[in-house]
Amino acid sequence: MAGTITITLPDGSSRELATGSTAADLAASIGRGLARAAVAASVDGGLTDLTAPLSDGASVAIITADSPEGRFVLRHSTAHVMAQAVTDLWPGAKYAIGPPIEDGFYYDFELPGGAHFSEDDLARIENRMREIIADDQPFSREEHSVDEGLALFRDQPYKVEIIAGVDTSEGAGDGVVSAYRNNERFVDLCRGPHVPTTGRLGHFRLTKVAAAYWRGDEHRPQLQRIYGTAWESDAALKDHLHRLEEAEKRDHRRLGAELDLFHFPSEIGSGLPVFHPKGGLVRKLMEDHARAEHERAGYQFVVTPHLAKSTLFETSGHLQWYAESMYPPMQLEGATYYPKPMNCPMHILIYQHRQRSYRELPMRLFEFGTVYRFERSGVLNGLLRARGFTQDDAHIFCAREQLGAELIDLLAFVVRILRTFGLTEFEAELATRPDKFVGDPADWDEATEALRQALLAVELPFVVAQGEGAFYAPKIDVHVRDAIGRRWQVSTLQVDFQFPHRFDLEYVGADNERHRPQMIHRALFGSIERFFAILIEHYAGALPTWLAPLQVRVLAVSRDHEPYADRVADRLRAEGFRAEVAGAEEGLGARVRRGKLEKIPYLLVVGDDDVAAGTVGVNARDKAGSPARDVPVDAFIDRLQSEVVSHLAPRSAPAPMA
Ligand SMILES: [Zn+2]
Ligand SMILES: [Zn+2]
Repeated sequence: MAGTITITLPDGSSRELATGSTAADLAASIGRGLARAAVAASVDGGLTDLTAPLSDGASVAIITADSPEGRFVLRHSTAHVMAQAVTDLWPGAKYAIGPPIEDGFYYDFELPGGAHFSEDDLARIENRMREIIADDQPFSREEHSVDEGLALFRDQPYKVEIIAGVDTSEGAGDGVVSAYRNNERFVDLCRGPHVPTTGRLGHFRLTKVAAAYWRGDEHRPQLQRIYGTAWESDAALKDHLHRLEEAEKRDHRRLGAELDLFHFPSEIGSGLPVFHPKGGLVRKLMEDHARAEHERAGYQFVVTPHLAKSTLFETSGHLQWYAESMYPPMQLEGATYYPKPMNCPMHILIYQHRQRSYRELPMRLFEFGTVYRFERSGVLNGLLRARGFTQDDAHIFCAREQLGAELIDLLAFVVRILRTFGLTEFEAELATRPDKFVGDPADWDEATEALRQALLAVELPFVVAQGEGAFYAPKIDVHVRDAIGRRWQVSTLQVDFQFPHRFDLEYVGADNERHRPQMIHRALFGSIERFFAILIEHYAGALPTWLAPLQVRVLAVSRDHEPYADRVADRLRAEGFRAEVAGAEEGLGARVRRGKLEKIPYLLVVGDDDVAAGTVGVNARDKAGSPARDVPVDAFIDRLQSEVVSHLAPRSAPAPMA
């Protein structure tokens, strides 16, 4: 029909609009609520401004402020306003790049005369930003030729470098330089999209100042980075700020020191932790539990060294593809040795040691294998990202026809073990074949499909991360949500064709012929150190009773009660619990406070009545209010017993093996 265009909506329905209509018009035609929430549009899969005219036949989705893409647009638009405010307050300031990031945004600046931002400047900048937002300035898109773009940004050397370098991600490419203008004075090089006007913004906070090198290169100028966060509503902003506060309280590096669990001695080197007795004990409990479960699930335990000759890593391909993440080599008796960055090649050598029969498959090899990886000092992050760590690493060799059932079993096992540590919310990512890959596409499809079927069978919610697989294999990454809603990647399952091929692995089938086994790589905790850190942050240091280094401390009210306190603690230890006595040389109130700070699950207070009646006063960490008095010791032991045993999630029946 003349004068109209037809638009397809995400639900498959279509809608006619006047020619020249924009996504904003479309949103308004659907409803006033949607029009208010709209910040951008997805047109045929690409993000655009609400103000861009739509063409006939386009598929259009309205992006609202509370969606991930919508927040991305809000945050990036807020970054523009921040740059505008900074250039208002510091005339002559140079602005480099200002991308949205998870939960927020940043912008990098060079101030005139090498001046630095102070934390106090953040409030000034915020105030100026609020004026710009109150001004409701439009974000007007402009397109220029490269020459025009270079002229427009002639006073902005970083923008000039981006245009000259044809950086499409920043709005320079195909001979077209796109920019967004807020007023005569402020324009920013940008690909867009943006909210229609600055008035759509406002729920933001500037959070910190940091130094950053241009292009992340320490030989280039050092810039000043301002971080901020922006949300669709004040409530969402407040929630986020509260989460930040919570995260700060839960920081595992702080709690690791306060609870005397581990530290990173500078004498040893960056990213290389030592575990203190209490941390070592927690770690042992984690390992003991994992070992017992793996044993039950048919894994065989192996042990391999920390070093290997370069030839092994040449065969595996690590020296070709992974050398940047490896520690430097050592020369010894004419050979070159490397600390191992992964355990896989050594497990393969165990498989390969003799001829294997189909009867031995699936062969599940498990090791707490310590690996060393070079990480830049800037990315090290306590136990979450260290240079030396221990993986709970398994490699499973199986026949091709066993792959599907093995993956289902494996994924169910992974989820069950994660649950026993009190993690209850899971999400997975299925990472598929990247553009650059090795191997046969048919193998990729088969493995990817097997991984997908496993996710469906275990009913694990997942998203497909298109093209995010390693160049040699597709994989499943399992993420968990912690107590304050943060998402952590933990387990990884990877179906690998390359190692069996590179190492020429074989087994003899029932047909007496030689076959190539499939190989699955799997780390469940990821690394013990990282998982430990996630648990500390999830529980804010108050580890569940079964994992707590000390479960019970018995406090004698006075010196006279100490022998009884000793007897109670002896009894608890005899029952297999971790208990100790705090004698009366320190006041009772001080001992209770200290026990709470140490996050000990139970403090038992014993006085005259308890000695006479064989009872204790129970001060439970997880219970507010006054302690339960006159609890018989037997009753307390029963309660402790059932609490410690109940951490084991109900067992799911193992799927039958092929
Ligand atoms: Zn922009
Ligand atoms: Zn591996």
